Amino acid sequence: MSEEMYVNGICHCGKIKITAQIEKNTVRACHCTDCQKMSGAPLRAIAIAPADKIIISGNPKEYVKIADSGNKRIQAFCSECGTQLYATDVDKRSYNLRTGFLEQKNELKPLHHVFTNSWMSWIRNIDF
Ligand SMILES: [Zn+2]
Ligand SMILES: [Zn+2]
Repeated sequence: MSEEMYVNGICHCGKIKITAQIEKNTVRACHCTDCQKMSGAPLRAIAIAPADKIIISGNPKEYVKIADSGNKRIQAFCSECGTQLYATDVDKRSYNLRTGFLEQKNELKPLHHVFTNSWMSWIRNIDF
């Protein structure tokens, strides 16, 4: 059974605020090539919130990405500062929130890796 968790975040410039309830067991590290390119980072962490559990204030810019399969996917970010906020389907049934802008990010530990076929060869070898 999954635990719900309240999260909130503000983009870098402050124009967009989001609050949501996510399912803790949906937190994952995504290594897909879209995440790599759009984030400018080797991977991106996400947490999933259903549409009825998210409140967005401000107007995120939405970029529609069309996959090779023809599927459309909305990628949202702040048009002012570029902070990446979420991805969603065209019907907006659920939201994949980027955990990096959420205040609770330290508690949002990914439980799964996805799209490991495109992950960095060094990902298992980061020493401290
Ligand atoms: Zn902003
Ligand atoms: Zn991804």
